Amino acid sequence: MTKKENPKLQFNTSWEYAPAPESTDHIRLKEKYDLFIDGKFVKPAKGKYFATINPATEQVLAMVAEADTSDVDKAVKAARKAYENVWKKMPPRERGKYIYRIARMIQERAREFAVIETMDGGKPIRESRDVDVPLAANHFFYYAGWADKLEYAFPNRNPQPIGVAGQIIPWNFPLLMAAWKIAPALAAGNTVVLKPAETTPLTALKLAEIIQESGLPDGVVNIITGAGATGAAIVNHPGVDKIAFTGSTAVGKIIINAVAGTNKKTTMELGGKAANIIFEDAPIDQAVEGVINGIFFNQGHVCCAGSRLFIQENIADKVIQKLKDRLETLIIGDPLDKNTDIGAINSKEQLATINKYIKIGINEGAEIYQSSCNLPKKGFWCKPTLFINVAQSSRIVQEEIFGPVLTIQTFRTIEEVIEKANNIPYGLSAGVWTDKGSKIFNLTTKLRAGVVWANTYNKFDPVSPFGGYKESGYGREGGIHGLMPYLNL
Ligand code: ADP
Repeated sequence: MTKKENPKLQFNTSWEYAPAPESTDHIRLKEKYDLFIDGKFVKPAKGKYFATINPATEQVLAMVAEADTSDVDKAVKAARKAYENVWKKMPPRERGKYIYRIARMIQERAREFAVIETMDGGKPIRESRDVDVPLAANHFFYYAGWADKLEYAFPNRNPQPIGVAGQIIPWNFPLLMAAWKIAPALAAGNTVVLKPAETTPLTALKLAEIIQESGLPDGVVNIITGAGATGAAIVNHPGVDKIAFTGSTAVGKIIINAVAGTNKKTTMELGGKAANIIFEDAPIDQAVEGVINGIFFNQGHVCCAGSRLFIQENIADKVIQKLKDRLETLIIGDPLDKNTDIGAINSKEQLATINKYIKIGINEGAEIYQSSCNLPKKGFWCKPTLFINVAQSSRIVQEEIFGPVLTIQTFRTIEEVIEKANNIPYGLSAGVWTDKGSKIFNLTTKLRAGVVWANTYNKFDPVSPFGGYKESGYGREGGIHGLMPYLNL
């Protein structure tokens, strides 16, 4: 964008870079993907396939099998057989070796994973290359290390595996969520049936190829594809001992109801509506960058996205102006371009949801500010959007939008901001920006959020537990905590 196109710009246009697209020649995609059951790729019983598309171009990338209840049954039986006959009996050290091998193979094929993740999901290559794929490998490395040390992790508790874990994951971090689910389950001695989201199945299927090559015994990990009905078939299968779910609060509630009265254990990582709080003593430029990173860099497709900003009143005008300026410099477009900050919205349906909320915000009387960028013609795109002067009770503040939309409120005192930040149905994460350690400690004990970042945002590490309060779910993933849901102690 130039100054001529947008006279509001006060600074030079040094962010106009030449295109730098990542090459796609090195990736191998099949035209058609079958279900990965018992160590082999098998056709779905009903012979049905669905298309997975690139949301930035709307081009079909591959056809993917749709598993029905009989396919799910086959996968669960394979997982049970592998659990009883092989995995449960295998010395933990040997189990650990397989998990290490998978971690190393992800690293070896990191570039291919990153490109496919970006093509199938729409996120910028910078994100999939620098965040998703390395973190996925790190999760396997980390949990591989625990496989033969469970007695040290839980002294005097006799940790035992649970059995077959049914795992259902969303589309925002497809490979990473698969790693979060599979790695601790295997380290704890369980076997797995995993279902990726219907819009982003390809990296999980690539992972299935790696798992096959790694020589992991047949049936220890089964990866099946399909939409909600396939997920429901996993949840309702009597042979599944544990359900681990990451996704929307609405589907989480359906699953909790479905397993009520059964012996199935559950962990739920659901929606979020994180507060990012900037105090007057904060390093302002760093905070503005953290806020931008927290909500815009992944199209807002992050359950812990910092989607509500609270600014201390006396610095509000300054911060809002800086945010507007920064919005103008964000690069939106080809997710495969290494300079892109904001990629494509994951699906047409998600774009419709985001647009619905933008209309609601306008109708509620909030002041809207959108970047003046041009959007590509094909694909699903949304301009980064600020809503200023929003009421605490408004729907865009209370409900999860899951898009690049930031609401901005102001506050005067710490008590006020704690009250406002906590006064929503969610409690997954929060961010605090201040120079004072005492304020950080005060807030971390009072904010009802599973993760509180201080003077940074969206930082992840396999060692740190992650999970929510209230309607954001229960159970923790990551760290030693992440082993507990997969063990009988
Ligand atoms: P999102 O809002 O992230 O798309 P969803 O909760 O709709 O989240 O989907 C997350 C995962 O749950 C996906 O893999 C989806 O196919 C699956 N899913 C959707 N409906 C159901 C259901 N009724 N039972 C089990 N899984 C489901």
